[in-house]
Amino acid sequence: MSPHFPHTESPSAELSGVTLSYPKGDTVLKGLDWRLLPGQVVGLLGRNGAGKTTLLETLLGLREPQAGTVTLFGQDALLPDDATRARIGYVPQQSDLFEAFTPAQLLAYFRSFYPRWNEAKVDGLLSRWDIARDKPIRKLSGGQKQRLSIIRALAHEPDLLVLDEPVASLDPAGRRDFLRELVSEVLDRGATVVFSTHILSDLERVAFNLAFMSGGRIALQAPLDELLEQVRAFTGTVTEMATLMARLGAEPLKRTALEAGRERVLARLPADAALPSGVAVDRVNLDDLFAELT
Ligand code: ADP
Repeated sequence: MSPHFPHTESPSAELSGVTLSYPKGDTVLKGLDWRLLPGQVVGLLGRNGAGKTTLLETLLGLREPQAGTVTLFGQDALLPDDATRARIGYVPQQSDLFEAFTPAQLLAYFRSFYPRWNEAKVDGLLSRWDIARDKPIRKLSGGQKQRLSIIRALAHEPDLLVLDEPVASLDPAGRRDFLRELVSEVLDRGATVVFSTHILSDLERVAFNLAFMSGGRIALQAPLDELLEQVRAFTGTVTEMATLMARLGAEPLKRTALEAGRERVLARLPADAALPSGVAVDRVNLDDLFAELT
């Protein structure tokens, strides 16, 4: 997805050793490291309660971690200056959209906050996504409100766009349109887009980077096509598996004990690995990856 944006570029967002607990609650982020680069479209995958919302809020500087650092475009995420703030777009899970306003009024209001605002894009999306400009927002459907909230976040052409479960109330056609829009954002401007989701079929339509969240950390992040190409499930005795992993130079991602001293190992192979014959090995799909890595 990002051949034009070399990985030496400075990250749009970076989290190092981030730990966050809620008062009297569990520790949700546990020494988490994460880097988001220009040109990446990242799908953040995790089970309910894994901490996706907490992570996105922490990344945006809306929550202060007990340990670790978070930077946005090289600045402390808790104290960004106005110019950095203007480079960020955020669609929270529940947007507060001023129900008595019309979409036209809402967008005019937000426009006043931003030095950059793409009116042509806003107009195009309102028409394409079938949102009445002059109807009170409270009369829009859930899906229309969600799309309006996405338009609001895209309008100032952010360099980092963060969306928390943005496709939840969109129909399949709405989701396709929306994904196309996200991808064109990235291709046009080298922006970073990150969104959390649990709707796996959405991810298979575009060559996204996937970030799997589990145990308070990002367990793995890689482009989907690379994962499907490089991750395999091996089965054998514990000794056989140890030998095989070393021989292949494979990175074990998940081990599951089976009966009789055997185990199943989900492992990522180096790009050029040649599999020896006589080994019990299966390809994996996105559902398998989600089930095993989150
Ligand atoms: P996800 O978005 O992956 O579903 P969340 O970040 O919403 O996960 O929640 C992670 C954990 O933190 C859950 O156990 C949730 O109950 C807890 N949690 C979330 N928000 C709060 C809060 N404001 N106060 C206390 N606990 C919270």
